[in-house]
Amino acid sequence: SPIPDYLKQVLEHVRPQDGGTPADYIETLAKADTSRLAVALAMVDGQIYSAGDDTVEFSIQSISKAFVYAMAIEDAGLEAVLAKIGVEPSGDAFNKLSLERGSNRPMNPMINAGAITAHLSNLSVDEEVYEAELRDADRNMGIGYMLKAAGIITCVPREAVTGYIRQCSINVNVKDLAMMLATLCNAGIHPVTGESIIPQTSVRQVFSVMTTCGMYDAAGAWVSRIGIPAKSGVAGAIIGALPGQVGIATFSPRLDERGNSVRGVKICERLSSDMGLHMMDVS
Ligand code: GLN
Repeated sequence: SPIPDYLKQVLEHVRPQDGGTPADYIETLAKADTSRLAVALAMVDGQIYSAGDDTVEFSIQSISKAFVYAMAIEDAGLEAVLAKIGVEPSGDAFNKLSLERGSNRPMNPMINAGAITAHLSNLSVDEEVYEAELRDADRNMGIGYMLKAAGIITCVPREAVTGYIRQCSINVNVKDLAMMLATLCNAGIHPVTGESIIPQTSVRQVFSVMTTCGMYDAAGAWVSRIGIPAKSGVAGAIIGALPGQVGIATFSPRLDERGNSVRGVKICERLSSDMGLHMMDVS
């Protein structure tokens, strides 16, 4: 297949981009090796292609929000989740202390306020990243107390926030992420095992919210330039998906001012234009 060579070319094309810096508010992420660069594509038939540092692990960070949202819908039902978490893009930074006017809900599940509301507990995590983020969690604790005061969460705010930070500290590599995405793209059925993981109705909800809110305050530019549902994380990963076809994952730690990987955005731009992925294009 010519695809692995093509992916190597794409990585070499973006490697000279040395703008941005790794997330500095989490000590472990600040020390990230910025030369790391990887991409993986997973097809809905289970074929996976990758290039670069495709076995290097990093913490999933905000990308967990997409999957935890799907699990919250499974646990509680969409109605109950919508009562607590909205679906409107906030146009704000991911860690803004904000609630929707009128409803008092977090604006959407892709920003921290929404994700702290939907958080998971009891996960296996990278303890160093977890401890480092916990040392610097004043802002997220502030969001937790805001949610408690608004009646959105009823537990001890610290528990919701530590659950959320643990979920952000799970280690993955680009191949893991691409396969997780391919599962969503394949109507929630794992392409290799055939196991049904998430119902299609939840996949549609998750992809909708990723499209409008997944790249935070850069969501509008992302949709118009790249045109696929996507989610980024502060460790430097980005996931993107073309429903019914392919899941994409990239990794490079330098971030732009919105918290999105500089080289990752470039890789996705290149893949979108080379492979005609933009959802608004007529093929
Ligand atoms: N754990 C990070 C935080 O809450 C995740 C943010 C992100 O990946 N954008 O700040």
